[in-house]
Amino acid sequence: MPSSLIPLPDDPIVAIATAPGRGAVGIVRVSGRGLGALIDALLGKALAPRLATYGPLLDAHGDAIDRGLALFFPAPHSYTGEDVLELQAHGGPVVLQLLLARCLEAAGELHGPAARLPHLRLAEPGEFTQRAFLNGKLDLAQAEAVADLIDAGTEAAARSASRSLAGAFSREIDTLAQGLIDLRMLVEATLDFPEEEIDFLEKADARGRLDRLTAALDRALDRTRQGALLAEGMTVVLAGQPNVGKSSLLNALAGAELAIVTPVPGTTRDKIGQTIQIEGVPVHVIDTAGLRKGARDEVERIGIERSWAEIERADAVIFLHDLTRAGESAYEAGEREIADRLGHAAQVMHVFNKADLVPDGAAGGLRLSALTGEGLAALRRALLERAGWHASPEGLFIARTRHVRALRRAREHLALAAALAMRADAALDLLAEELRLAHDALGEITGRVSADALLGEIFGRFCIGK
Ligand code: GDP
Repeated sequence: MPSSLIPLPDDPIVAIATAPGRGAVGIVRVSGRGLGALIDALLGKALAPRLATYGPLLDAHGDAIDRGLALFFPAPHSYTGEDVLELQAHGGPVVLQLLLARCLEAAGELHGPAARLPHLRLAEPGEFTQRAFLNGKLDLAQAEAVADLIDAGTEAAARSASRSLAGAFSREIDTLAQGLIDLRMLVEATLDFPEEEIDFLEKADARGRLDRLTAALDRALDRTRQGALLAEGMTVVLAGQPNVGKSSLLNALAGAELAIVTPVPGTTRDKIGQTIQIEGVPVHVIDTAGLRKGARDEVERIGIERSWAEIERADAVIFLHDLTRAGESAYEAGEREIADRLGHAAQVMHVFNKADLVPDGAAGGLRLSALTGEGLAALRRALLERAGWHASPEGLFIARTRHVRALRRAREHLALAAALAMRADAALDLLAEELRLAHDALGEITGRVSADALLGEIFGRFCIGK
């Protein structure tokens, strides 16, 4: 549902919708109102709605830039809810740039004094999806799922994003919101007839409703946290001296299941490490090998400091020890140095490697062998537990930290409302206010209530053409 705060844009936009580089097919996409004249200029004829039409894609002199498919989706039956034109050409960067330039040029001619088409411009990142949202084609959680599906690094993340895009998450939030609306109506109605207030609320089982709503919200919060974990993953630091088996462990943990990681605009991916997956949860592993003291120059020193800052925010730190070297004085000195640096942070897990060589080596932590695989399953479980993961990916939907925070806020307001409902004087106006705030927090998730800034933040991270 469009937010009333934001005027609907009406200038047409254009972008290359496929990834940069060479490919079999590339797509240029235009969205706006009244694209008929532009279609005529580009194809020399009108297009039947939603039918693929093969033919030359024309330059200003009527010569073919390329031959390809053209598809016209008249409003409102399109991705954005506006007229959408898709040109599928050969996927070369130059061909697609020529087509893009031709769209702008043709629109420029049409723009003129006769104004058969408003000014066509290049789309901002995420702008097609933003229009889909503004035109009521998707709610905000679904729009975010579009980006999460594109960015998905594991199969579980992709499947969950697809479920969120289909509306599984939004429906759960809408059900909660409906429960809140019912309760708010009850309380607000009672406010208007103060003489009957307590009695009326009791008859309508307002407290029971509030309790059930809180329980439902707790379940949604838990599932949302799992969904956010699938989307964003957990960060694990791998610390330990040279030769204790850090790379062997990383390889063993990764197995054949390397996550596919693409740089996400606005996030730093320059830290040292790689992303693996455990049960479909992306696990970003930062190797501290490059973080030893004695940086050669200022740039390296800043990089190291930044990585240590990341370590402090990590979900878990694996401090890997070598059972075969326990007791050697140089080894023990190295252990102390790392221990000092890591401090006594709660997230440090002591893991003892090469258990195959030292069958009964004492260990105040997890024993494993990166070589034989013994103990690896236990480490995987322990890591997921740290992150709060307990779901099987089946039936999960993707979510974001933003959603988790909004649900937590709704939960806090429900708790305050429950506390108010317990009081003898039952300050009904305050209770009504807490319910309203809880409702607002839920509305932020699907965009039923939303501010411009929030929208800019969400759509600005998309790729161009989506
Ligand atoms: P890193 O420097 O900490 O990354 O250590 P590596 O992973 O390169 O391992 C150092 C050496 O220890 C290599 O020769 C590995 O084959 C060996 N190694 C690693 N893990 C094990 C293990 O669990 N058992 C045995 N026997 N050797 C291991």
